[in-house]
Amino acid sequence: MQKKNEHKTICSYCGVGCGILVEQDSKGNISVEGDPDYPVNKGMLCSKGKNLNYVAQDTSDRILYPEMRWSRNHPLQRVSWDTAFDRAAAVFKSIIEKHGPDSVGFYVSGQCLTEEYYLVNKLTKGFIGTNNIDTNSRLCMSSAVVGYKKMLGEDSVPISYEDIELSDCFLIAGANPAWCHPILFRRIENHKEKNPDVKIIVVDPRKTQTCAAADLHLQILPGTDVILFNAMARWLIEKKKIDRNFIKKHTVNFDAVKESAFQLSLKKAAELCGVSVEDIKKAAMYIGNAKAFISMWTMGLNQSVIGVSKNVSLMNLSLLTGQIGKPGAGPFSLTGQPNAMGGREVGGMASLLAAHRELGNPKHRKEVTDFWGGKEIKSEPGYTATEMFDALESGKMKAVWIICTNPIVSMPNVHKAERALKNASFVVVQDISHNSESTKFADLLLPAAGWLEKDGTMTNSERRISYLPKVIGAPGEALPDAEILWKFAQKMGYHGFDYKNTSEVYDEHCLLTKGTEIDITGLSHERLKREGSFQWPVPHATHMGTPRLFTDYQFFTNDKKSHFNAPASLYNKSEITTPEYPLILNTGRVRDQWHTRTKTGKVKRLLTHIPDPYLEMNKVDAYLRKLKDGDIAVIKSRRGTVRVKVKVNFDIREKVVFLPMHWGKVLNNDFGRANNLTNDLVDPVSKEPDFKYCAVEVAKYVKP
Ligand code: SF4
Repeated sequence: MQKKNEHKTICSYCGVGCGILVEQDSKGNISVEGDPDYPVNKGMLCSKGKNLNYVAQDTSDRILYPEMRWSRNHPLQRVSWDTAFDRAAAVFKSIIEKHGPDSVGFYVSGQCLTEEYYLVNKLTKGFIGTNNIDTNSRLCMSSAVVGYKKMLGEDSVPISYEDIELSDCFLIAGANPAWCHPILFRRIENHKEKNPDVKIIVVDPRKTQTCAAADLHLQILPGTDVILFNAMARWLIEKKKIDRNFIKKHTVNFDAVKESAFQLSLKKAAELCGVSVEDIKKAAMYIGNAKAFISMWTMGLNQSVIGVSKNVSLMNLSLLTGQIGKPGAGPFSLTGQPNAMGGREVGGMASLLAAHRELGNPKHRKEVTDFWGGKEIKSEPGYTATEMFDALESGKMKAVWIICTNPIVSMPNVHKAERALKNASFVVVQDISHNSESTKFADLLLPAAGWLEKDGTMTNSERRISYLPKVIGAPGEALPDAEILWKFAQKMGYHGFDYKNTSEVYDEHCLLTKGTEIDITGLSHERLKREGSFQWPVPHATHMGTPRLFTDYQFFTNDKKSHFNAPASLYNKSEITTPEYPLILNTGRVRDQWHTRTKTGKVKRLLTHIPDPYLEMNKVDAYLRKLKDGDIAVIKSRRGTVRVKVKVNFDIREKVVFLPMHWGKVLNNDFGRANNLTNDLVDPVSKEPDFKYCAVEVAKYVKP
């Protein structure tokens, strides 16, 4: 029974999407606890979710009113919303008139609600007339999007969290869910505790906390995932541990994958991966013997110049064994952000179109153009995340509008992002907090409402759509992001943006999905409030949602078959090590921090776990450099330097080092910022950057 002052909402951090009960007492204090009735977390919350009340109540860092500078030499000054909208519209109109619509763009976030994502896409693609709308989700899951499209016909996660309890083998690759998707991992741990025969295989160059639950840890050399998955495929084929019936009836292209898998002997593959032949065989045997097999992955596979190859080579294992479309089985990419999936539904990327339609398909473009009644949508993709910052740096793009993301910490080769924003003629930053380093680059700073201060929907990693209510008022003059967007569109003179509330925006989005594979015309804010969450598709008002896709083995491809894909590349060749840069840097997350710490960084309790950035390094590598635990080291790549303390152990492979990605400026300098070092090379198809692989050297810091 829900209490009077209690509201059901969803955690604003990771893509697990836990349900939260929020209560406000008579003094206005907010408390949070896990929602015991929510199917995702069943009452559990991780450390980040448990401390969301502090973030929601602390307004000390909030942007309270619009601020604007008249020129780069002037400081930001408080202005009214009217002035802010007038200036934004005047500058955008003038730049578009002079340089064309492709000279402007929007860079948004997987933390935006679906309604906001929908609006910014409609505004950009349908009315400004450019496809320059991309998102920080490009940095974390665009390789998985391409992988799913290639294999299954659409960007479609086939399974649900409830499949966890029905599976007897997990391959967790390039992910540390124990820290980064904690509640999901708790479900896997609980399942294994009750069923000790369940096998967990972890693939990671680091011995992470996830390995504690593993039956087998394949501690591969960075960038060798494709070789490993191909070797497993080879063993499965050789030992006839494949599902011939499924392959024959429901797949195409098996021979290409077989040819790819047989390029290398198991011995050669093991040597290149830096693991034993026996361990590869054991992993493949666990998969081959499983009744129900799930693969899970995140950034370790996606953030690579061969991210798509890594994705397809892993998904090939599910098709080889017929482990899809049935309980407890399927390839399951975990999203890092709470609404990365919702963003994908509305086509919230430079290369996508609404409701999983194809940008390159004239019929699909016409459908959306006609629906919106604006400009004809262009066929060419717009600038993707890194391309957008390249275009700003080179002057091809003049203006950018950044919503709810902090590229000055999160972009690869981040000095380039700084140069890009300095070079831009006009930068709008729409955010909740001055804590974002990117606000310093704003010509126009717009205060946005935060979690609990606005309403809308989000979709988690398992396609589950939930409604988030407005519980409290926003501080100062902050407005919901959706309202800022529709008011700007109105100021630009565009029709079709006269919404009264986000419910109307959502209805429009749902209608646009009609007849597509992700049809959610059965949903509305009212239904979600009344009946709780649903997994898409939900094609009519009495439909109860779809926990599992492809149960009829009818895939979303034109021929309705699933498509094996031979990986285009076996090796990551983005950057070679040399005597000057002999180590490979891997970046990632820590348990209690989130993204660039604009929220978690201000919660004291979350700082007790890991308060400062650090470099994890093997003892042998440290010894060779006369470094011991706690020493300050300088890490240098071809792009920049970082200075942090070292954490020395044997959990990480020799010649590999690890640096968390969360920290921006530390003690008024940028010495903890991992992206000073990283490479902005991208996968040629997914355009996802190579965050997990850059050559560095580490030396003891000597005070000048
Ligand atoms: Fe929030 Fe993710 Fe933790 Fe759940 S697991 S409480 S969604 S951060």
